Amino acid sequence: MAQLTDVAPGVLRLSPLPLDLVNMYLLDDVLVDAGGGLGTKRILAALRGHRVSALALTHAHFDHHGGSHAVCEALGIPLWCGEEERPAVEAGDGSLLYPDPSRCIARVARRLGGPPHPVARVLREGDTVGSFTVLATPGHTPGHLAFWRQRDRVLVLGDILFHRNPVTLRHRLMFPYRFLVYDYEQNAAAARRLAALEPAVVCFGHGEPLRDPDLLHAFLRPA
Ligand SMILES: [Zn+2]
Ligand SMILES: [Zn+2]
Repeated sequence: MAQLTDVAPGVLRLSPLPLDLVNMYLLDDVLVDAGGGLGTKRILAALRGHRVSALALTHAHFDHHGGSHAVCEALGIPLWCGEEERPAVEAGDGSLLYPDPSRCIARVARRLGGPPHPVARVLREGDTVGSFTVLATPGHTPGHLAFWRQRDRVLVLGDILFHRNPVTLRHRLMFPYRFLVYDYEQNAAAARRLAALEPAVVCFGHGEPLRDPDLLHAFLRPA
């Protein structure tokens, strides 16, 4: 059974796999990310009884977008994402979001990418999603987005940082492996920009929420 847990007022975290391996979030009535396509039935069951009016993607890597088509069809909701993710979403092929399309991960992405789905709305810096503001944070992928709520300093940062190592499964803060990141320096700059917001709660695509801003600063401090 997929777990729905409270993170902050109006913010629920949905983790369909063990160890917080992949997270999606319900921000008010907007679902953020759709998982990889496995476990979509469990996701839909967990969302039963909750109002969901749209799906917004942090980015179109297969582990966040693979389930988009099934979720949007089942709930009858539109899909929103960043402009630069749109070709991957509408082609069902995220391989071009990786730094080297010839590498194994890009081929895996091509195979595991969800079915194509139309983008109903392009999200841009400053747009509103529920009670959150969209932040354009390119780097991990060209059209990566984060979601920020100033009033209680809640941040959903997608895959700019991981809070669990997807290979060793160790619980730790880390930058995603380079082969997963479209522009590593740009992604690092996005992480520093978000840390400067002094988030009280940081929600990740992978790993549990972090409630210690000092830890984030310590991690990003130059060695
Ligand atoms: Zn990613
Ligand atoms: Zn991911």
